[in-house]
Amino acid sequence: MPTLRQLFLSHNAQTTDFPLLLEFERAEGLYMYDTNGKAYMDLISGIGVSSIGHRHPRVVQAIKDQVDKYMHLMVYGEYVQTPQVRFAEKLVSILPGHLQSVYFVNSGAEAAEGALKLAKRHTGRSQIIACHNSYHGSTHGALSVMGSDEFKRGYGPLLPDVDFIQFDRLSDLQKITDKTACVIVETIQGEAGIRVPEIQYMQALRHKCDKTGTLLILDEIQAGMGRTGKLFAFEHYGIEPDILLLAKALGGGMPIGAFISSAEIMGALKNDPILGHITTFGGHPVSCAAGLAALEALLEENLTRQVAEKEHLFKELLVHPAIKEVRGKGLMLAAEFESFELNKKIIDRCIENGIITDWFLHCSNSMRIAPPLIITHADIKKACEIIIEAVEYYT
Ligand code: PLP
Repeated sequence: MPTLRQLFLSHNAQTTDFPLLLEFERAEGLYMYDTNGKAYMDLISGIGVSSIGHRHPRVVQAIKDQVDKYMHLMVYGEYVQTPQVRFAEKLVSILPGHLQSVYFVNSGAEAAEGALKLAKRHTGRSQIIACHNSYHGSTHGALSVMGSDEFKRGYGPLLPDVDFIQFDRLSDLQKITDKTACVIVETIQGEAGIRVPEIQYMQALRHKCDKTGTLLILDEIQAGMGRTGKLFAFEHYGIEPDILLLAKALGGGMPIGAFISSAEIMGALKNDPILGHITTFGGHPVSCAAGLAALEALLEENLTRQVAEKEHLFKELLVHPAIKEVRGKGLMLAAEFESFELNKKIIDRCIENGIITDWFLHCSNSMRIAPPLIITHADIKKACEIIIEAVEYYT
């Protein structure tokens, strides 16, 4: 009899030759439990998803309640489905006034795809500007705006008329002109190794987009839903996007994404031709019910309240000559080491000692720290002790 691990390696498509191969049986709150009952603290929320903790009871109940009513009924946009309507209503109630039209999709990449198409339709322009070291997803459109030649190698030709600027570099904003349909930017760059831009830069970016009639797409797929200590990361900058992208934590552990804009901009997808963007499963009722419950939990349990404090505790405790820097905002952090080799050894030892962490797509010498927001001060102390022990072991 082949083991589950052997079957996984034989029949489940692999994304690398070195998968982690951990086998989990259940997860609850901050912890995941393997088949031997060993507990692992989830320090990355797998990745950026379980912000309110694994299997939040409110989310589990909402899923059960919805499954007892209906699951899929019809492709997106035709029927009035209570979970979709109530979730959109709640989301727009916490967003700036003009962001009132929510297009639900299945994932982050799809949210990026929809937003890029929408920007082209609304402006009648084709040029898209994105940032070096960005990540917006793995589909063709999202890959086209990924700021890494390495990851794009072998998949061309990709979308034409895409240009790149350096994130957080004011002088590059001159590349945005009245030919630019949109600029797509992560409010805080994730896979670049957590890069927090200056306020001045974000405000100048907003201003330049306004001046040139360019739509500003803020990708908060990783940074949104409370991760940085505000519900949305753009709130740190006093700016608002024309199109906001959400996914990951949006579904409370269920798959869903969204691109959100004004009713006027979103209207471009309705006409000439009609059905400018369609999806069978986008806004699945069970995912919407879960997402609404997750958002209510985030708000009612005030889970963003202590995020800044928790950020400072991590920064205070992760001090060691081998840790070059701990950067980031809220619970979206990166600890930088000298090399990938050292980082990888430390990560592997942390996993052995019951802490799940990893590195970043475009920044392999840094360790990701993005736990569920429910992590307590005592949990943070325990996690940091294990990380520091691993650092000392190898240095
Ligand atoms: N945008 C950002 C900032 C992300 O971090 C990710 C995923 O890591 C995506 C988009 C893509 O989301 P998905 O994996 O749901 O397609």
